[in-house]
Amino acid sequence: MRCNLWLGPGPEVEARDARKTHQQATRGHGTGAPGGRCNHAGPPVSQRIVSRFRLDPCRLPPEVEDLRREVRAFLDEELADFPTWRRAYTWMGSDPDFSRKMGARGWIGMTWPREYGGAERSSFDRYVVLEEMLAAGAPVAAHWIADRQTGPLLLKYGTEEQRQRILPGICRGEIYFCIGMSEPDSGSDLASVRTRAERTDTGWRINGTKLWTSGAAQSHYMIALVRTSAAERKHQGLSQLLIPLQDTPGLTIRPIRDLAGNAHFCEVTFEDVEVGEDAVIGAEGDGWGQVMAELAYERSGPERYLSCQPLLSTFARELGSDAGPRQRAGIGRQVAHLATLRQMTLSLAGLLERGEDPALEASVTKDLGGVFEQDLPGLVQSLIEAEPRADAGATDLQELLAHLMQNAPSFSLRGGTREVLRGIIARGLGLR
Ligand SMILES: Cc1cc2nc3c(=O)[nH]c(=O)nc-3n(C[C@H](O)[C@H](O)[C@H](O)COP(=O)(O)OP(=O)(O)OC[C@H]3O[C@@H](n4cnc5c(N)ncnc54)[C@H](O)[C@@H]3O)c2cc1C
Repeated sequence: MRCNLWLGPGPEVEARDARKTHQQATRGHGTGAPGGRCNHAGPPVSQRIVSRFRLDPCRLPPEVEDLRREVRAFLDEELADFPTWRRAYTWMGSDPDFSRKMGARGWIGMTWPREYGGAERSSFDRYVVLEEMLAAGAPVAAHWIADRQTGPLLLKYGTEEQRQRILPGICRGEIYFCIGMSEPDSGSDLASVRTRAERTDTGWRINGTKLWTSGAAQSHYMIALVRTSAAERKHQGLSQLLIPLQDTPGLTIRPIRDLAGNAHFCEVTFEDVEVGEDAVIGAEGDGWGQVMAELAYERSGPERYLSCQPLLSTFARELGSDAGPRQRAGIGRQVAHLATLRQMTLSLAGLLERGEDPALEASVTKDLGGVFEQDLPGLVQSLIEAEPRADAGATDLQELLAHLMQNAPSFSLRGGTREVLRGIIARGLGLR
């Protein structure tokens, strides 16, 4: 049954002219840009916040509703027998068959040029597909990173050969990527990465370790941030390398089991791993700036507040007309938050559509979305007093609760921690 809570179509699109580019304000999964400045003089804080923040109201064009109907029909059919507990994982749950089916529909790489397998559709079309997939808890993880950030990265910085070789396979839902940023001693302070690549006669030799790499065991490639030269400042001398992961000599992928018993992220070690000259993405030494641009894609999407949507939908459905005043008020409050977060991510889709870099706005949205989705399982439990259970006698709601309560602590870590995001936001607003 379709969720009554899902907000469905938004109002019409209202594209706005871009305002002046805001101060670039991110540093890694980590801290704010080196150029951030303390600015205690000048206009009051509230005025400064309003003037720097560019989340203009943005509405979906009515024509996307045909696509929404098509996606819902697809999901009804494909997920008819999908186990409820798997809906708790959605963009962390991998199913290559499902990804291939999405690829066949043209729903991966939707905005990319046709010459690379894309469909040249709008960011709003893509947004509708994403939100419907997430609301249903569809298993989209296999292609998620490639679609969300690898494709845009290669379109911006990749060589023609890299694009031709990789993008069509991503669009078909057949080539998967993982993000090789974090390391054992480099997460928030990403610029301190120690994995290094040294020049050889034929390309590069890589040594080091990447940690918490989501989906590495299922991926075909990693885009790794590595040190390619010694530099005075730690943000310099970094490059992004495209590294094949399957059957690569010297490369070991070790899945790491998390609190819920899943092993979706991995430790990846490189011992004299050789890659060709053509492995560099963009310019050698420009890795830091490129990674910054990539993070806006990583932090801006509806996955940053919809991870628990199947729980909220199931909660409302199971209560039905029996919901008491406290439960109604609780659900209403969450729906109001959802509507606001949806507006924010839609505005971000609009900024990305216009080719802008919404690093600051993406950080705010990820932080607010993370708080919302992290709190939701506990809130639902307190409203219904359901015990989280995953045994044979558990209800759908109990099962979803059991999985999401164990996964929720990670929501404020993945993609950059809450504390670090708030530092970035403060810096971006000129408060720090
Ligand atoms: C589910 C999940 C999936 C992930 N997937 C990937 C992936 O695919 N690829 C990848 O590269 N990484 C991935 N990560 C790693 C993630 O990006 C890092 O865990 C995160 O950036 C934090 O780094 P860390 O673990 O080294 O913690 P640390 O950086 O050591 O931070 C520890 C604590 O100190 C706080 N802290 C650190 N610096 C500051 C500061 N300057 N100011 C205030 N507080 C600070 C942090 O907020 C945190 O609470 C994933 C993590 C999770 C949980």
